[in-house]
Amino acid sequence: MTRRLGSGKLVIATHNAGKLKEISALLAPHGVSCISAGSLGLPEPAETGTTFVQNALIKARAAAEASGMPALADDSGLAVDVLDGRPGVYTADWAERQWFEGQAGRDWYMAMGKVEGLLSEKGPGVDRSATFHCALALAWPDGEQAVYEGTAPGSLTWPPRGEMGFGYDPVFVPHGREQTFAEIAPEEKHAISHRADAFAKLVGEQFGG
Ligand code: IMP
Repeated sequence: MTRRLGSGKLVIATHNAGKLKEISALLAPHGVSCISAGSLGLPEPAETGTTFVQNALIKARAAAEASGMPALADDSGLAVDVLDGRPGVYTADWAERQWFEGQAGRDWYMAMGKVEGLLSEKGPGVDRSATFHCALALAWPDGEQAVYEGTAPGSLTWPPRGEMGFGYDPVFVPHGREQTFAEIAPEEKHAISHRADAFAKLVGEQFGG
């Protein structure tokens, strides 16, 4: 049987303030109070996994072991069908570029263009199906762990559309919709996203009846 969190403190293995806020709000109604790995000064482990689940577990395990408290980590990205699931766990890496000497940063327009370039090499009738994935991993200091996976299926459009959202949102049209994730209001996106899907599974198993 899966270990349950119960109420208490949970370390969120992220150094991203936005993610901490979103996750804290989702778990607060269940009596969980979230602290970020960043505020505890925990080091960020290298994401050396080849799947979203492996990377989420690496981050959650490292935070649980270093803090002595249960920890939650997520890993997410975009998998394009005809690109054999790329960029996959390298979704953020495809946006890395050097702006100035020694100054790295992320360029999402470049990353979206790279995906589009590979799709167009395959010809005009190419299958544009893609899926956003999210893996959530819970880890306890004694080695216990649980994983929840969520998906948002859809297809890629070009050129990018919309000002809301982040990352690859402007080229991703979720199934059953015509707008891109970047044209859909955040509250609505948060109800249909891969992260929402994974969180619903986590909340159902961890806090359900
Ligand atoms: P990570 O899970 O923080 O490593 O991020 C993986 C990358 O996947 C992000 O930097 C985004 O580019 C991309 N990604 C994950 N979720 C979304 C989403 O909801 N919209 C757009 N891009 C996303």
